[in-house]
Amino acid sequence: MRRGHPWLFADSVLRQDRRGCAGELAVIYDRKNRFLAAGLFDPDSPIRVRVLQAGKPQTIDLYWWSERLQQARERRQNLFDEQTTGYRWINGESDGWPGLVLDRYDTTLVLKLYTAAWLPRLEEIIGLMVQQLHQERIVLRLSRNLRDVAQDQFAKKDGEILFGPTLGEPVIFSETGLRFESEVLRGQKTGFFLDQRENRRNIEGLARGRSVLNAFSFSGGFSLYAARGGALVATDLDLSAHALRSASRNFALNHEVLQADAFEWLSANPKRKFDLAVLDPPSFATREAERAGALRAYAKLAALAIEHLSSGGILVACSCSAHVAAQEFFEAARMSAAKSKRRFVELRTTCQPRNPKDVSSNSAPQAMPPITLRHSERRNTSRPST
Ligand code: SAH
Repeated sequence: MRRGHPWLFADSVLRQDRRGCAGELAVIYDRKNRFLAAGLFDPDSPIRVRVLQAGKPQTIDLYWWSERLQQARERRQNLFDEQTTGYRWINGESDGWPGLVLDRYDTTLVLKLYTAAWLPRLEEIIGLMVQQLHQERIVLRLSRNLRDVAQDQFAKKDGEILFGPTLGEPVIFSETGLRFESEVLRGQKTGFFLDQRENRRNIEGLARGRSVLNAFSFSGGFSLYAARGGALVATDLDLSAHALRSASRNFALNHEVLQADAFEWLSANPKRKFDLAVLDPPSFATREAERAGALRAYAKLAALAIEHLSSGGILVACSCSAHVAAQEFFEAARMSAAKSKRRFVELRTTCQPRNPKDVSSNSAPQAMPPITLRHSERRNTSRPST
């Protein structure tokens, strides 16, 4: 205890002045009757006391709890930006809240208890969390061994909402900008394996160009990071069909689909910013008479898309109009960039890929290929893009 161990085991208790109930405050003295620690008592657990306060005695009252909660909060103050709205807010013994975990998923808090000692204190603790953490909802999760006692003695159920509105579906949150769902009411742990966040980031850095097997994938956390890191393909392997469905939904969460006219959508949603925008419309000029209109449309589209670029953003604009020459299309795009009054650099202009047969190979020289003649409906067969 003196060296900071957070538990007092039942078999190291020499004497106890009375039997006591779960959740009562126990004060621990050494053989010479000197104060050692105070903590949460649990008569039914081999971990008889979980230490709250060691070293010197302190009054453990509402103010003390409030300070403790504040400290846990401050420890995480600058760790996350708005890209990460799911993380552990209280990490049990490490934060001085033995046997208790509090995870945040967006505006939902999930409180998971591992000892019955917290049950009689639930109301007090929830009150503080509501007051200090300002979230919309608090869900209670109970480790399996607590479920009966919670139900029988405290009328509390696993997955019960202790504060805030009901919840019909998984909670969506972000982790380093990736979106995930968490099944906070019934899922494993508190719905997601938040403790793997940094490992997931490491995978992102290793995945480029690799095919990835994610065994015991659960809801695909590692795979999402691998995909973002440039994996060729990610394979989720898990026993649970339920977990795999969640993995598919998590991939879908990071893929937005908008059915709309692109010109209209771009005009109507000026606030949506992107770091990279690709414009690959259908042909705007299938007849010579449509050439001028097509050029205006390309210019307009590029101008609209530029409005949606965040600072440092990249625009890729393509054309496949047979009647628009590559150079005039490039000019239209450049004009829109110039008119936008934003500083821009032309990174690359490209055309359609070479025919694979054109690619020189290192193998033995091939016999002269037969001459092929292909009829093209397009007068200008080059497919310019900038
Ligand atoms: N890596 C995950 C968490 C893994 S949890 C993450 O980062 O989110 C463990 C997973 O293993 C569960 O989803 C469970 O369904 C799965 N599982 C358990 N036994 C298994 C087995 N024998 N074969 C495949 N999956 C298994």
